[in-house]
Amino acid sequence: MIDKVYDPHRVEEKWYRFWEEKGYFSADENSPRKPFCIAIPPPNVTGSLHMGHALNNTIQDILIRWRKMQGYESLWVPGTDHAGIATQNQVERKLAREGKTRFDLGREKFEEEVWNWKEKYGKRIIEQLKKLGASCDWERERFTLDEGLSEAVRESFARYYKKGLIYRGERIINWCPRCGTAISDLEVRYNEVEGKLYYINYPIAESKKFITVATTRPETMLGDTAVAVNPEDSRYKKLVGKTAMLPLVNREIPIIEDELVDPKFGTGAVKVTPCHDPNDFEIGKREKLDFIKVIDENGRITHPLYKGLSIEKTRNKIVKDLKSKKLLVKIEPYTHSVGSCARCETTVEPMVSKQWFVKMKPLAEPAIKVVKNGKVKFYPKRWAKVYLNWMYNIKDWCISRQLWWGHRIPVWYCKDCNNIMVTVNTPKVCEKCGSKAIYQDADVLDTWFSSALWPLSTLGWPKATKDLAKFYPTNVLSTDPDIIYLWVARMIISGLEFMNQTPFKDVYIHSTVLNEKGERMSRSKGIGADPLDLINKFGTDALRFTLTYLESQSQSFRLWEDRFEMGRNFANKIWNATRLVLPYLSHFEPKLDERMNYELSDRWILSEYTRTIKSVTDAFKHFNFSTAASTLYSFFWHEFCDWYLELAKSRLYRKDTTCLYVIWYVLEGTLKLLHPIMPFITEELWQKIPHKGESIMVSSWPVFKKKFIDNKSEVSMNIVKDVVSAIRNIRSELRVPSNKKGVCLIKTDRGEIKELIEKCRDYVLGLSKVESIEAGSDAEKPEHSAVSVISGAEIYLPLKGLIDFEVERKRIEKERDAIKRELTKVNKKFLNEAFISRAPKEVIEKTKVKKIEYEEKLHRLEENLKSLL
Ligand SMILES: [Zn+2]
Ligand SMILES: [Zn+2]
Repeated sequence: MIDKVYDPHRVEEKWYRFWEEKGYFSADENSPRKPFCIAIPPPNVTGSLHMGHALNNTIQDILIRWRKMQGYESLWVPGTDHAGIATQNQVERKLAREGKTRFDLGREKFEEEVWNWKEKYGKRIIEQLKKLGASCDWERERFTLDEGLSEAVRESFARYYKKGLIYRGERIINWCPRCGTAISDLEVRYNEVEGKLYYINYPIAESKKFITVATTRPETMLGDTAVAVNPEDSRYKKLVGKTAMLPLVNREIPIIEDELVDPKFGTGAVKVTPCHDPNDFEIGKREKLDFIKVIDENGRITHPLYKGLSIEKTRNKIVKDLKSKKLLVKIEPYTHSVGSCARCETTVEPMVSKQWFVKMKPLAEPAIKVVKNGKVKFYPKRWAKVYLNWMYNIKDWCISRQLWWGHRIPVWYCKDCNNIMVTVNTPKVCEKCGSKAIYQDADVLDTWFSSALWPLSTLGWPKATKDLAKFYPTNVLSTDPDIIYLWVARMIISGLEFMNQTPFKDVYIHSTVLNEKGERMSRSKGIGADPLDLINKFGTDALRFTLTYLESQSQSFRLWEDRFEMGRNFANKIWNATRLVLPYLSHFEPKLDERMNYELSDRWILSEYTRTIKSVTDAFKHFNFSTAASTLYSFFWHEFCDWYLELAKSRLYRKDTTCLYVIWYVLEGTLKLLHPIMPFITEELWQKIPHKGESIMVSSWPVFKKKFIDNKSEVSMNIVKDVVSAIRNIRSELRVPSNKKGVCLIKTDRGEIKELIEKCRDYVLGLSKVESIEAGSDAEKPEHSAVSVISGAEIYLPLKGLIDFEVERKRIEKERDAIKRELTKVNKKFLNEAFISRAPKEVIEKTKVKKIEYEEKLHRLEENLKSLL
């Protein structure tokens, strides 16, 4: 028996538990089957499911379930990321509410606090993934700070260090004064800011003249060690080689030339502050300038003149002091981009600092090669270019963070002999002098340092495990475009470095989900942003199907709540169609009989179904998720339900075994094709119809059987469908009551159409509600006939006796006049220049579509009127 209405909540939990208990999610590293493996992009341990997760994990689950049905040993490795800076921020915020800072607790107590936080909230995202139906191998769940993964981090650090690929150095880095840590270039967000450009006179030494420099940051002048101009700039030729007196500070600094200076910026002369600007840092190195640091790690000034003041206060004070010395020429409004911390939005300070770095150039080379030679493929293809561009211009990666939550840097220093030790195991004494006075580096590693090892470390690396042997390299990485540099690139680098093999073969970059207005989805922006609300309202399968349908390899798609109705309606359609045939199938024993008496509709639906197998399989293979979903949608809803099941009704009632077999064969197979996208409803229904095996999840993927492809039947059925649709349209447009049958005449010169109509008379009569149909080249249009033209034929429907002409004519005239009025309004809009020049593009497009619709409707109404005259 089957419920009248599909209730997703009644079936979802039940089947998830069933799959889990049966052990379908666990992969066997000893299996002889071909492996198929995906490592989940680990969500932040304290995070919760958002729309991007829902989309990305649906995609991965589709691939895992599909490959499993194809006979692969499918493994989806789950896990979470400790997300250093993000998690530390959350716990610090909690402490702040209690009026405390992490320093009140001390490092050890604070770390304990974060672990407690992790225990409390870390399970949430995993539970949410289960609700989504994710078929992850939960026995293999990992955490970036667990023992094995920590070992992997130390091992890789030590190996890089030994090869000279990790070094400690004083370099310019991005410093977040609020987070109190260095952050990498990729963790800085740049925003256009309306600031000011200050023109300041620097007196030229031993002269009464000045050189005017322009700057957006007057406060950094305290650390200036040169003034620079472009070598091509003739205006300053004479001054190069002289010195300027740094105002307020009264330090002599050289006037130099450097190609980095843009002659069009300001006056063409700029101040150079090597310690606090990335470009100036380069100039400083090249020209061997002094490096003077004037801002500290708390964002305070260290120069004696303004010691302890904030940056903003110093700027105001310096401007005042320059004014009083008459050295400030002018201030102009100036829009420029300012970097801020991606985590806390505080303005980032570029500063020279002693940090740990990974030398990226030599590591990037092989990682460029594997993408260029196709060992790693990006889908959609355009992302490969984005990846390569970044790789060509790669800079060293600052990996140390002044945080407490994360992998502590595996470096120990000896107080007695200054020896530096980099080891996997914690040392007890200095290996050089034997002293016990050793201490570990206080910093932790960038979170992405451990994430970069994810596909290796989750499979057991650096140990030579069976998992690693069986499942590495993994097959697919599915992720969002934002982390191609932060993550994808670095995984490829570590895979090549430590395993000598790319960590995956295919990279699928999914779309960004936007809200109705085209803004990025975020919880703060309201509706539809929480997938769990949507699951409660529409069911998991509806959510998954809708997302899959919309995922069209474009950069982004817009999403709002109503769009999920499509998924829900489709689930209901599948449910209702199965409910309709279930009474006939429940005691039916499907057996393929070679003497099966296929008729046209059987051959046609088998052919269409076989094509569907091919196109869905190909679509999954090429990551065209939307194509798979839309193919299944239109095949099931339109071909199978609207046409085949309609035609099959009378055969069903008389229990025609050929028809029953075809229905079972196509339905069972289509449920399988749908299973990766809609796992729950397909399991529920598959269990109710005749089937072999325990679960649809471990059943086998439908096989493409070429013998079922039947072009002739497809052509024939298309003609039948055209004729039926034409008659149906006329009847509905002219409001012919369903109890009035009428006749149909078809004028055609094509013998095969005439023959087909004769052969398929029952189909047409059954579906179109006319009582007779004749086709021939000599058919003449009877008086008062509605006409419809299809390819190769004209269809006449005599209307006499079917409708009241007077009433219908009046109705149509009224409708026609209304449409005419609307059309006039639209046409007026296009005559209005203000509309054309000012209205947004989308509005103009929409109005154009409306105009075409009205014109077509008007034409049809006028044609219909003619038949009533
Ligand atoms: Zn910050
Ligand atoms: Zn020592």
